[in-house]
Amino acid sequence: MKCEFCDGETTNKKVKRQHWLKGKLYILEDVSAEVCTECGERYFHAKTLDAIDRYLSKTHPVKANLNVEVVSINQALAESIL
Ligand SMILES: [Zn+2]
Repeated sequence: MKCEFCDGETTNKKVKRQHWLKGKLYILEDVSAEVCTECGERYFHAKTLDAIDRYLSKTHPVKANLNVEVVSINQALAESIL
């Protein structure tokens, strides 16, 4: 397909995706996506996202659990870091 942003060509790749479901964050590996070869924009098929929701809603194997920091970038702006 053609990238909506830069008109570049996309190619099918397996990527890592952050995915929210019912207030919970999941990191998914090996998700099929169309990735723009020019700008790197990623496109996921609605079918793929629906399948992920269904898979996560059932009992599924968990590879690892991560602690995730939630950081407001306002503090960095106040400190003029960004
Ligand atoms: Zn692009």
